Amino acid sequence: MNLGKYSFGVGDRFGHQARAQLAAFQKAGDAGVEITPVWNKSDREHRIIGTQPPDVRREADEAVRSCGWGEAYFVDADHVGLKNVDGFVNASDFFTLDVADFIGETAEEAGIRAFVDSQAGRIGDLLIPGLDEPIRVTRDLLRETAGKYLFAVRQAGRTYRHILEKKSSSDFITEVSMDETDSAQTPVELLFILAMIAREKIPVATLAPKFTGRFNKGVEYVGDPDRFEKEFDADLAVIRFAVREFGLPSGLKLSVHSGSDKFAIYGPIRKALKKHDAGVHIKTAGTTWLEELIGLAEAGRDGLSLAREIYTSAFHRFEELAKPYATVIDIDSSRLPDPSDLEAWDGKRFAATLRHDPSNPHYNPHFRQLLHVGFKVAAEMNGRYLQALRDHETVIARNVTGNIYERHMKRLFL
Ligand SMILES: [Zn+2]
Repeated sequence: MNLGKYSFGVGDRFGHQARAQLAAFQKAGDAGVEITPVWNKSDREHRIIGTQPPDVRREADEAVRSCGWGEAYFVDADHVGLKNVDGFVNASDFFTLDVADFIGETAEEAGIRAFVDSQAGRIGDLLIPGLDEPIRVTRDLLRETAGKYLFAVRQAGRTYRHILEKKSSSDFITEVSMDETDSAQTPVELLFILAMIAREKIPVATLAPKFTGRFNKGVEYVGDPDRFEKEFDADLAVIRFAVREFGLPSGLKLSVHSGSDKFAIYGPIRKALKKHDAGVHIKTAGTTWLEELIGLAEAGRDGLSLAREIYTSAFHRFEELAKPYATVIDIDSSRLPDPSDLEAWDGKRFAATLRHDPSNPHYNPHFRQLLHVGFKVAAEMNGRYLQALRDHETVIARNVTGNIYERHMKRLFL
């Protein structure tokens, strides 16, 4: 079970694009960079679409077979916890243990004290190679960090051990995620979170913190890229130190969630990875579905009219569709085109409005984000949407592969 230095998570809401997605990894391989594909789908996504974890496994296996992919690949139970992990255990070999909801719940006093005592040897000025300044570790800092994160990390431990009842530890990859929360974790917090993870004996391969700034779904990073760069750089230094100090797995790396389309920070990520000779996991999800819509629009005729129909319905169901994703989208409804405007649009115009190309004057991030969360509309069309995917497979596949390879992998890794 080796995730490799670089790995990239893709989501495929409707289960038809795994081959087109894999083609992007093959292109990267041909260009000299090995990137491990991970197909991820959360319980929330499964419920909205009406799929099951074994569907993702089947699709991934089939794509790997038909594309002749000889390298590692994984199927990620994305954002699971004790209450929903069971349905994923057989089909998955990568588990993203999401503990964000438990941050701030406080563990019992004895547990906090035991943690503080375990780290007492670090009290004072702690020098971490790669950080400009030493970290001033105090008993209060340790207590505060434990008060905020110990309960949450223990939840990850419970879920991990629950999976272990059914699977051997050598049969899966473990990620711990804390990204779906409002406040970012500092590098200092990250250090002691890793100490807690080590105490829980979780062989963590990837850690997804909440980074500074906003990571909205499918659109550009919102925040200060310079500040992000400093934080990301410090996080990498902390991880290297923690691996040695706490005996964590040597391949441990950061995982960037809602990582698609964050072009403003790809440069800083790339620079920091190079500097630290570190790896990374980039997790993306719903952008492949948007490429399906772009492909349908470009196909014209029935494809375009289906894409229009989906937007019209999403427009009228804005509140309902946006609600489950409220923390990860920013849609200004006054900037959404009226559905009647779309009647005059050709496929090119629809695609240009949707595609994340900031240099195109038609690009509209509000339109894009609404459609990003609007996949429920297509799911409710059942066979009709799936048939359109089959009818226009070639143009869609070109967009799916191109989006992952040209816009993402090239900028991040090549
Ligand atoms: Zn996430």
